[in-house]
Amino acid sequence: MPAGEFLLSVCNSFGIFALIALLYGYVLRFVERPPLRSVATGVLFGVGGCLALANTLQVAPGLFTDVRAVILVLAPFFGGVPGAVIAAAMTVTMRLLAGGDGAYAGAASIVAVTLIGLLFARFARPDDGPTSPRSLLALGLSANIPLLCFLVVPIDEAAAIFLNVVIPLTLANTLGVMILGPVMLQAWQTHDRNTRLVVEAGTDPLTGLANRREFDRRVAALLDEARTAARPLSVILFDIDNFKRVNDTLGHATGDTILVWVAEVVRLHLRADDLAARFGGEEIMLALPGTDDHAALMIAERIRSAVERHGALMELQYERITISAGVATARGGDTRFARIFDQADEALYEAKRRGRNRVQAFDVASTPRVSRLRRGTMAVGA
Ligand code: GH3
Ligand code: MG
Ligand code: MG
Repeated sequence: MPAGEFLLSVCNSFGIFALIALLYGYVLRFVERPPLRSVATGVLFGVGGCLALANTLQVAPGLFTDVRAVILVLAPFFGGVPGAVIAAAMTVTMRLLAGGDGAYAGAASIVAVTLIGLLFARFARPDDGPTSPRSLLALGLSANIPLLCFLVVPIDEAAAIFLNVVIPLTLANTLGVMILGPVMLQAWQTHDRNTRLVVEAGTDPLTGLANRREFDRRVAALLDEARTAARPLSVILFDIDNFKRVNDTLGHATGDTILVWVAEVVRLHLRADDLAARFGGEEIMLALPGTDDHAALMIAERIRSAVERHGALMELQYERITISAGVATARGGDTRFARIFDQADEALYEAKRRGRNRVQAFDVASTPRVSRLRRGTMAVGA
């Protein structure tokens, strides 16, 4: 085999690895839903397997080598079972279409190496999977198990096959896994870390609800949608009653536990499209797309009564845990958030004034108070 041809094949193999790693970054970024991501990753590895087959190098008359095993053994780590099956099916199809004497043996080796990858991935996920050089080495060496079939060749051909095929291919597969594995893993870990940071930046650490920043970002989109689709959007502002006293009586830690519990009760009453955020210290704001004032009042009342009912069951030294709520609805034209917030805040104030533990809708005829948003006294606790 000419050295130039060999070098060209090695360069092509690196090119295939680079292409897979690059496109995997795009899959991670643009395909968010896990089942679809698995499929996309499977197709990507399948394309890689087919490209590897197209980059086959003849090392001796009738004997061909390529780096398909590297790609297929890694496919289950990143594409899961569906991804591995898709990658293997695509590569097997390509191998059978290419035909030749070794077509069925080639297809069998593709299935075998995918099963090895699946077994490895079964016991290790990508985040703690092929990370250490030792586990990468083990995986890379395992990718060569199908080469054991050469043990059945006649003894007079064995030495040549061993030198020309088994040794170079074992080296290529093992090094390939040790190179492609960490590159892919790095892409996965970077994406995972970024996703977690984005989620953390928008989450209130105590209640797990969205924080004010995340709420502002998402409510803008909801208001735009409400405007263009001429659908109503309601907001409900909840505030725990006499929470300062609860803290003073039971301690701040118990206060925190109560706040978390109230957030959980609120969360249990939400639909998938609803948005809930910890808005200030012990205030929770909901934005309910497609919900008119009547429905919003019912939802607020349901949450209020759930807190009252279950709050009474808690043995908290005579403290009753209750909440009050202010409800406001934006329809069509004026969907500025500051205005709807003011209205909900005003309604909440009225609920407190009327004795707490109640839900109050914004009354258009009421005398406006000075907005807390405009006064800048919103306590932003999250
Ligand atoms: P009202 O019925 O009028 O709402 O009375 P309130 O005492 O609840 O008054 P306000 O809503 O102004 O309560 C603010 C208090 O909430 C101040 C603080 O003690 C408590 N608080 C705010 N954030 C937290 C928190 O993260 N944890 C705990 N435990 N308490 C908090
Ligand atoms: Mg309060
Ligand atoms: Mg408050």
